[in-house]
Amino acid sequence: MAAQPRGGRARPVILVMYTVCLRNHAAALGGYAVDGCGEFTPTGEDGTPREFLCAACNCHRNFHQRIEMEIPPPPPRRRAPRVARRANLAAASPPPPPTPPQPVVELIYPPPSPPLTDTGSES
Ligand SMILES: [Zn+2]
Repeated sequence: MAAQPRGGRARPVILVMYTVCLRNHAAALGGYAVDGCGEFTPTGEDGTPREFLCAACNCHRNFHQRIEMEIPPPPPRRRAPRVARRANLAAASPPPPPTPPQPVVELIYPPPSPPLTDTGSES
């Protein structure tokens, strides 16, 4: 049992290709000769017996070199935490230094003039 990675639906797509025909047509003669077929082309439709016969060299597909290419799935899209990251940076920054106390300037006004009193109503 191969361990499957968790949490991901996307799996790598394995593309199988059959390329050069490696069948030795001169094996009965003690030599070595290939037909020069460079790529397997199925003769019949999928599901038919002729599916595995090459249309170019009429050899079985197993004589052709099998190449597997693993196509990695596209990376999953992630949402960039824009606002949250900025909020964290703001929270991590030190607080601004306290402002120095402003000097208090006392404005000295001349004392108010004494109110005028009625001189005639004193008892
Ligand atoms: Zn062939």
